[in-house]
Parts: sequence; structure tokens; C-alpha cells
Amino acid sequence: MTDLKLFNSLTRQIEPFVPVHPGEARVYTCGPTVYNYPHVGNMRAYVFADVLGRTLSWKGYKLTHVINITDVGHLTDDADAGEDKMEKMAAEKAQSIWDIARHYTEAYWADVEALNIRQPAKWSVATDYVEEMLEFAKSIADKHCYELESGLYFDVSTVEDYGRLARAVTEEGEGRIDTVEGKRNAADFAIWRKTPAGEKRQMEWGSPWGKGAPGWHLECSVMGEKLLGFPFDIHTGGIDHREIHHPNEIAQNQAFCGCGGLSDATNSGAKMWMHNNFLVERSGKMSKSSGEFLRLQLLIDKGYHPLAYRMMCLQAHYRSELEFSWEGLEAALVRLKRIVMQVERITDTEAQPEAEHPKFTPMLAKFDDAMADDLNTPLALTALEEALAVKKVDAGIKRAVIEGMDEVLGLDLFGIDRKALRIRPKAAQITEAEIEDMLARRKAARAEKDFATSDALRDELAAKRVEVMDGDPLGWEWKLVQ
Ligand code: AMP
Ligand code: ZN
Repeated sequence: MTDLKLFNSLTRQIEPFVPVHPGEARVYTCGPTVYNYPHVGNMRAYVFADVLGRTLSWKGYKLTHVINITDVGHLTDDADAGEDKMEKMAAEKAQSIWDIARHYTEAYWADVEALNIRQPAKWSVATDYVEEMLEFAKSIADKHCYELESGLYFDVSTVEDYGRLARAVTEEGEGRIDTVEGKRNAADFAIWRKTPAGEKRQMEWGSPWGKGAPGWHLECSVMGEKLLGFPFDIHTGGIDHREIHHPNEIAQNQAFCGCGGLSDATNSGAKMWMHNNFLVERSGKMSKSSGEFLRLQLLIDKGYHPLAYRMMCLQAHYRSELEFSWEGLEAALVRLKRIVMQVERITDTEAQPEAEHPKFTPMLAKFDDAMADDLNTPLALTALEEALAVKKVDAGIKRAVIEGMDEVLGLDLFGIDRKALRIRPKAAQITEAEIEDMLARRKAARAEKDFATSDALRDELAAKRVEVMDGDPLGWEWKLVQ
């Protein structure tokens, strides 16, 4: 097997993965803020973290993966201004924050399952760790923080190399807006936000700095440290986190460890920081404020199997921007279907695989090299397709090879069938059973050369937007057109 190499955002270099604890891999992923449904872009971040985790397992590391659920502290503006996203949504909906959090956490978990993302060792919920956050904050307050009317602020000038992850111009605090009066540096951020006098927040806790709530960056520092120990191996998130959230987490971690600059990456709390690039959509449908925004459920309602979206993600490298389009999604679905049809043709499931088969050696090597090369899933997919195309081999071996590859890619190739991949919009005017019944009658009519009946049935299907696809090479047989 090829040694695993990954791109470390902290050094902006591809580096060998060398675990902190031999044989183990400890990974922390910044999870969702559960004030609204995740959009498909958000889910790209978790598909990426899942592929990373699966690859670490494939390479033989014992994986401990933590994903947090942010139910307090994430403000409407990352640059430390605005309201708490959870409080704002709860006020808008006139519901308790706890109900909002439960609803959207469950919706997120449904997407996780639909995308065949493995369960992490732990989902850590921020509000379960407030005590620990207070302890952490107290331990760094004297040396690194100062108090203002609105809260306890972290002074970024007290740690070495602040902002290295973002490659920010520190003196200027580039890109930051100094919105809070009294801040010593533009980039300083609240680690504890006091409830303004005369106000009551739904979520607030007592602290040495008055009643209030933790800052978002503090949460991830604390849960990472508590659950994985500093330094752990890899911290992941979307590329936007490279600019503010993660530099701030890193500053806190340095303060907590009493450690030095970032030329030694372990001082950041993790050895490697990895970020997926964005899924972009030109018409603005990814914005959660645009009425019908791009949720996974919307894709499903339009008739697409959710794993087509996973395939779409895998077809791009995680560090490349990926543009969302319905045509792109359909192309990914068709590719997945081709693969599933080939998998269905591997019949003999009983045969015991021998340890190896020389015919598969090149594809296995290509697959392994691709994944080891900073998770090159586009190339790994072609290795899988080449392995599927190998003929005259024992079916048991072929099955084992494909199963092994799918352990890493997570396309559930043996769990779905071609029928599940049919495009089936929720708004269809006809059920699948009705379509199948009419097609069976049409077939019988054709067999009896009763073309009048068969044409009439075809017209009736067309009126209900069913396109009959006789002899389609992809075996669709029929398709519901939107
Ligand atoms: P949030 O719930 O806003 O904290 O976001 C959850 C995750 O999605 C974070 O890791 C973000 O960096 C990531 N993310 C946000 N927007 C996108 C996008 N358009 N494409 C990919 N990842 C994203
Ligand atoms: Zn985080």
C-alpha cells in the first residue's frame, strides 16, 4: 500500500500522514449550526470528511472521528458581529431553541444517512460542554483575554503567528471589520458573550464575566481537546473556516497549551488542518434565505437518488470548486447507474475470494495510489470502473475487489439497485406501479401485434409525462420527464 499523503492547509503543502499515536487517527470535523436545514454545499463538507475517515480506515488506522453539533454561539457574521443564529431563528419562529436544535439536528442526520456518511465515534453537542468551555476560558483569561462590556475578548497579539492559517496580513486584520468598540486588535474575538443588561437570552449560563453564552470558536477548541486530546491528527471544515473560525480556534489552542509558534504545526492543536472547497451555484439557490434553497431533500423531491449527489462530489477533487447544476447531477446519476448495472452482473456471490488475483493488481494499485495522493477520488473512480470492466475472472474475487473500493468511496454499490436510481419526482402524476402495469399491458399488446393498443398506451403514458425508452442502452426502460 502507498503511504497516505494529505494537503495541510497550515503549511499549504502535501505532507505524509504520520499519526500522533501510532496506528490511530483522530479527526475532528466542524459540524453544522443547527438553526436551519443544511444545504447541499454544507453536505459536501461532510462527504469529504467521510471519505477522509474511510481512507484512514482503509489504510489500517483505528479511526476516532468527532463531529460537533453547534447549538449555541455561532453569530450571523463570522467576524464577530450580529446575533446568535440560533436565537434569531428561535425568535423568528417563536419556538424554543431546544426545539429548533432538535428539529434541524434530525434533518441533518437524515441527510447524513441518505448520503451514506458513516456515523462518527461521537456527535458532540456544544451545549453539553459549557462547563468545560468555562474552565478552558478561565485558564487562558488572565494572560490572553480582556473584558469589555459585551464580553470577554481574546487578544490575538498574545500568541505567535496569529492568522497563519488564513495567510492574513495581521497588522491590518485584513478583511475584518472592527465592529466592537474597545477591541485592541481588529481580529480580536469574543470567547464569552455577555447578555446585554435588561435582556434575557434563551440560552445563557453564569460565568465569572457575567451571564452569557460561549463564543463559537471556543466550542470547537474545547470539544477537540476534551474528546481527542491535543495535538490530535486532523481538523477539517469548509474552506471558509480557514479565514476566521479556525485561526481563532488555533489561537485559543496555543494559549491553552502555553505553546509557541506555528512553525511546529502541533502547537495549533492538530497536526493537520484540511479544508474542502465550496460547492457553488450561480443562481443563488444555495442561500438559505432564498425561499426554496438547495437542500438534499429538494434533490430527492425532484426525483434524484441522494447517492447521485455523493457521486457528484466524488467526481471532483475536494480542493476544487464544484459547480452545482441539474445536468451535472443527472450525469452523476447516469454514471452511478452504469456502475450499479455492472455490479448487478457480478453474479456468483458464493465463491470465496482468493487472496489476490493478478488481473486486478493494476486497478487496485491505481485506486490505492489515487486515494493516498490527497484523496484523489476522481481518479479512484476510474480505477473502480476499470476493475468492473475486467472479464473472465472469478466473480467472488471481483466482488471482493469492488466491495473493498466501495468501502472507501461509500457509494453503497451493493445496497442499491438500478430501479432505485430511476428519476422519480415527488410531483409525478402517476405511480410506478401504474407505469409498470401499463408497460406490461403494452408489451403483451405488442407481442400480439396489436399496435393500436400499444400506441394508445404509449400516448397515455406520454400524457402523464412518462417517456417510454425502448431498447435504451442504459436500461432505463422509462423515464419521468419534469
Ligand atoms: P455551517 O453550518 O454554516 O457551520 O457550515 C457547515 C459546513 O459547511 C462548514 O464546514 C462550512 O465550511 C461548510 N460549507 C458552507 N458552505 C459550503 C459550500 N457552499 N460548499 C462546501 N462547503 C460549505
Ligand atoms: Zn468548528
